[in-house]
Amino acid sequence: MTYEVDKPDEQWRTELSPEEYRVLRKAGTEPAFTGEYTDTKTEGVYECRACGAELFRSTEKFESHCGWPSFYDPARSEAVGLLEDRSLGMTRTEVRCARCGSHLGHVFTGEGYPTPTDQRYCINSVSLRLVTDGQ
Ligand SMILES: [Zn+2]
Repeated sequence: MTYEVDKPDEQWRTELSPEEYRVLRKAGTEPAFTGEYTDTKTEGVYECRACGAELFRSTEKFESHCGWPSFYDPARSEAVGLLEDRSLGMTRTEVRCARCGSHLGHVFTGEGYPTPTDQRYCINSVSLRLVTDGQ
């Protein structure tokens, strides 16, 4: 798969912090309840920390109590790409940035959360950057 933003691995490694690189480029996961946006309610737009593409809005964020920022819908559905992930002995749906291919998290469906979509985009804080009006 090719992406609009396509950089060599070494360049990502230089541009991102070690933790950002591990999660975004190596499909890592930040420990639950440690991410800076887990409980954030500030209004704004969540961008991809690797390429700056708009991914989610604060209006789509909800309290899932799962330990990671959770959204019920991407800001624009074409902003994220979904891939089947069979790692860890489970079949999950991986969520990636559609612009640069960086790993964001996973999406789960049918868990019974009272949201319009019944989906939970479980996203690593370190994959996101919250941009508010004041910035
Ligand atoms: Zn991106």
